[in-house]
Amino acid sequence: MSHNVVYLDYQATTPVDQRVLDAMLPFLTQQYANPSSPHQPGRRAASALRAARRQVKTSLGAEHDTEIVFTSGATEANHLAILGTATANPRPDADHIITTPIEHQSVLATCDHLSRAGYSVTTVPVDHHGRVNPADVAVAITPHTVLVSVMYANNEIGTIQPIADIAAITRRHNVLLHTDAAQAIGALDIDVNRLGVDLLTISAHKIYGPKGIGALYIRRGTPLRPQYAGSQEHGFRAGTINLPGTIALAEALRILATEREHETPRIAQLRDSLADRLLAALPHAHINGSPEHRLPGNLSLTIPGIDAADLIDALPDLAISNGSACASGHAKPSHVLTAIGLPDSDARATIRLSLGRETRESDIEHAAHRIGSSVATTPPPG
Ligand code: PMP
Repeated sequence: MSHNVVYLDYQATTPVDQRVLDAMLPFLTQQYANPSSPHQPGRRAASALRAARRQVKTSLGAEHDTEIVFTSGATEANHLAILGTATANPRPDADHIITTPIEHQSVLATCDHLSRAGYSVTTVPVDHHGRVNPADVAVAITPHTVLVSVMYANNEIGTIQPIADIAAITRRHNVLLHTDAAQAIGALDIDVNRLGVDLLTISAHKIYGPKGIGALYIRRGTPLRPQYAGSQEHGFRAGTINLPGTIALAEALRILATEREHETPRIAQLRDSLADRLLAALPHAHINGSPEHRLPGNLSLTIPGIDAADLIDALPDLAISNGSACASGHAKPSHVLTAIGLPDSDARATIRLSLGRETRESDIEHAAHRIGSSVATTPPPG
């Protein structure tokens, strides 16, 4: 990042940690053999892949190495989880999926695809903090339900869902539960067995790893049809494995395990300080998301009367976002903000600031000062 830009968009993506880069580099330049190759370098690559897979397994609290399937990121992991389970179920009448209106596009688009193919999809509501009520999931389950997919933490408003409570319900009904933990993994200590999920998505570039690598945890015995059939990844995902990526994901998770505990309160404290400063400068603004169940690095702020896209353009020294990066540039207001009840005008007046490992107090001061004074000097549109 250029020195004169304050980066507050860690939920869109993070820089690659130097230790992660150091771990993966030899697998690009020297140990580049294909882990499926029969020769000595190939066998060494396969052994490195095994170690990476074991690290990911341990980090997620999984029991078997074969429960970890590497993918190109969270988008592909979400597709594989949803399409894979929906189309694998041996019961022909198992054609119902439950999700929420605030999922990432990769989940919503996949559910939409299934709905056009004849599946039925129920979207359980979220409250004005973006929380799902597990009782609503229980009510939505029918004898036809195959899968419930509820994200662990939201990418726009940071709201954390009661996944373990939802799992208690899906277990009772013998329905599979998938959670997209792409945003949660950086802040929460995740254990698939404590949570009780059957499928869980992660991505490296949200946790100081490179883009283009992620993983899907698939509980042993879960019926899942591969989307590209082949011999790699225990038959669940074909294609030459991105070995440097898997090494990087494993290293990023190893670092998280040692640093998350002290980083989380530091980031939460900076986020609260940023919120206090902004609310002091802009008393009519309000924060979105759950006050208690929210990611430490997330701040979603509505400043009524502004146009978030214009504000971002007016602040070239800040890297902040309106809604989610994937949704930015779309004329439509964010589906997450509208699902929690914001009118379109407020959804368009919402910025997302997300903090991370390299955020310092001086960044917070600068951002709060620049946003506060820029809004104060810009007359509201219309
Ligand atoms: N799910 C969530 C919750 C996300 O925030 C993102 C990234 N914006 C994704 C999925 C997609 O991740 P990837 O870029 O690894 O495909």
